Amino acid sequence: MEIVKVDNAKCIGCGACVAIAPETFDFDDDGLSKVINEEVTESAKSACESCPVEAISTEEVIDTTYTEVTEEKAA
Ligand code: SF4
Repeated sequence: MEIVKVDNAKCIGCGACVAIAPETFDFDDDGLSKVINEEVTESAKSACESCPVEAISTEEVIDTTYTEVTEEKAA
């Protein structure tokens, strides 16, 4: 699974990503970008390409959704 990430140490708060992909990015309390939806959409990719300081990236992560399987034994 691929997710969108923002490096807040690089972000300068220009707002390009929020304008291009408001469903993915929003401003945090410091006026910097934060990811509100990690899904890699076409607009999120466009925002990634438009960031002037290359603060946005996508990252492949392992789906850690864990489902416990219990085996029920006959009494
Ligand atoms: S486009 Fe880049 S620099 Fe501008 S707000 Fe988004 S992450 Fe920050």
